[in-house]
Amino acid sequence: MKQFQYIRPSSQQSVIDAVSKSGAKVIAGGSNLVDLMKNGVMAPDKLVDIQKLPLKGINTYKGGLTIGSMALNSQVAENDQVKKHFPLLSMALNAGASAQIRNMATVGGNMMQRTRCSYFYDTAMPCNKRNPGSGCGAIGGINRMHAIFGASDKCIAVHPSDMCVALAALDAVVVVQGRKGKREIPFTQFHRLPGDHPELDNTLAKDELITEVHLPDNRFAKNSYYLKLRDRASYAFALISVAAALEMDGNVIKDVRLAMGGVAHKPWRHTAAEQMLKGKPATVANFEKAAAVAMQGAKAYEYNDFKLQMAPAAIVEALSHAAGLI
Ligand SMILES: Cc1cc2nc3c(=O)[nH]c(=O)nc-3n(C[C@H](O)[C@H](O)[C@H](O)COP(=O)(O)OP(=O)(O)OC[C@H]3O[C@@H](n4cnc5c(N)ncnc54)[C@H](O)[C@@H]3O)c2cc1C
Ligand code: SF4
Repeated sequence: MKQFQYIRPSSQQSVIDAVSKSGAKVIAGGSNLVDLMKNGVMAPDKLVDIQKLPLKGINTYKGGLTIGSMALNSQVAENDQVKKHFPLLSMALNAGASAQIRNMATVGGNMMQRTRCSYFYDTAMPCNKRNPGSGCGAIGGINRMHAIFGASDKCIAVHPSDMCVALAALDAVVVVQGRKGKREIPFTQFHRLPGDHPELDNTLAKDELITEVHLPDNRFAKNSYYLKLRDRASYAFALISVAAALEMDGNVIKDVRLAMGGVAHKPWRHTAAEQMLKGKPATVANFEKAAAVAMQGAKAYEYNDFKLQMAPAAIVEALSHAAGLI
């Protein structure tokens, strides 16, 4: 590992000033960044540790809940307000990683974690995300974990987070602070598709720090479910995951949110399927129709075509759980 400087400022402004310099990188729990440094994938000159910033709070406000970016994944998953009002988020967090990692991993770090594409981690292989212009090892390689929505001819990687799939479904808003001030980013606009610039995972500027995530109040608590399909029962990233949330009026779906993980470069919201379900009875037949709408435009590669069958089945299963049908 190359030598680097390490600082631990105690004010937000000092952190922002430090990270705006080239070669500097924020470190929170370190559970992703240190791995990437050990593998030679990232090589910052300076680490700016943000553990001293008072960003761990989880508080209610008029209209919702606000979660500090340094709140631990385990702390959020076990928080009473989260479990009561946003159980979907709690389920998604508990489906991720292991208890030990959830005790180190922060909300901001989880949002910013890099893809788990094995070619990205292997510095002997071409990868446009790690080394722009070098090519993509996964497109003609073993692409079993890769995207079926929104990929480009430059990158077919998926975003690995479970938490982010729930946040996309719950209409979360990301609050960031930079040298030009504060900015709010709707969650579905925080991560980006690869296009011609797969090296950019998200819309955060170099000098910006994630400070909070807002969760607006909703009526989904009674009928929500996070389904994660993976190779092992725990400690594995999603092949496919589904966040499903329903607001019911008797047997009729008044409102619905549907998002997927393991399928795209960002958590993938299925707004057309949501529209299709609104006002309809919660039946398996309607969930199958919604899954067919959701799958329009899906494209598989040599080793991940099983996702074309797995994804619609997962959508039906998650919605059925959320509706209490199974
Ligand atoms: C073995 C293993 C299994 C895992 N399994 C899963 C899984 O199943 N599901 C899942 O969702 N995750 C999984 N993870 C990922 C884990 O959840 C992330 O590593 C963790 O959430 C990252 O948080 P951190 O605080 O440690 O981030 P760090 O490693 O400290 O930082 C990660 C990135 O975020 C940036 N960053 C951190 N905080 C901020 C901020 N406030 N503002 C701006 N930038 C910031 C850093 O600069 C860095 O680029 C797994 C990790 C491991 C090691
Ligand atoms: S899919 Fe993306 S991350 Fe993976 S090798 Fe290709 S460019 Fe790199």
